[in-house]
Amino acid sequence: MEIIIDKGSGFCFGVRRAISMAEKEASRTGELFCLGDIVHNTEEVKRLSKRGIEFITRDKYFTLSDCKVLIRAHGEPPETYEYAQNNNIQLIDATCPVVLKLQEKVKNAQQINPQAQIVIFGRKKHPEIIGLYGQVKDAVIIESVDDISKVNYSKPIFLFAQTTKDTVQYAEIQNEMLEQVLKAGGDINDFIVYDSICVQVANRVPHLAKFSQTVDTLLFVGGKSSSNSKMLFDVCKDYNQKSFFITSINDLDKLDLSKAKKIGICGATSTPSWLIGEIGNHLKATFS
Ligand code: SF4
Repeated sequence: MEIIIDKGSGFCFGVRRAISMAEKEASRTGELFCLGDIVHNTEEVKRLSKRGIEFITRDKYFTLSDCKVLIRAHGEPPETYEYAQNNNIQLIDATCPVVLKLQEKVKNAQQINPQAQIVIFGRKKHPEIIGLYGQVKDAVIIESVDDISKVNYSKPIFLFAQTTKDTVQYAEIQNEMLEQVLKAGGDINDFIVYDSICVQVANRVPHLAKFSQTVDTLLFVGGKSSSNSKMLFDVCKDYNQKSFFITSINDLDKLDLSKAKKIGICGATSTPSWLIGEIGNHLKATFS
């Protein structure tokens, strides 16, 4: 059996940067709070917990004072910063620069035209969306093309997407919304679309589409709560029917891989490379 590890998988730049900031601080002081899971991957969160990083909920954050808290790559709404200022919390801000820029763009759009509607394609409860939503008054969040009826097409529109969304779905939403703008007799110039999907995510789609076709069986390693994992796994499944989603070595027991000749292992922007490597080594040891 041949085992191929995808070299293009593993953390994106934003997650790598946030984890390195967290580890540096925790190794210096031995303790650090992190607001929310630093990455949507349970195995990585477990690893970092052992290094003195305590992952806290938003509810817990708003009870703290006089401490240090790390803001993860997904970013936070302004209320998080205000609370820190009023409660002597030192923030270590690891918001990804790409997300920070997007927050600025969303804020600026509303300043440019306060009458316009800000529409964001993303998952309502996703931390990045909570951070973006907090930048403006009354943004409309759409989770799929089915939600576009929530938009008021008689007003100018600024459309954005969560950085980890699928480019194909975003394009479909743009086309459907444009149709509605024209139906409502709107001006095409009042429908402004921002290309806000991160290149680190967008580039993985064609890469994984290609990689999944080079093997007979594909193991996609990801976190159950990661949107990016779900989206990229769906891409793999489209190109290789024998694609399986696993979260750790423990899931391998549920699969019959005895007939596989060439297994590919890959993951999302939130999947640690060490976990992909560990699974690869385990398979090599089992089947060689
Ligand atoms: S996917 Fe892109 S925007 Fe999101 S954290 Fe990673 S590098 Fe930043």
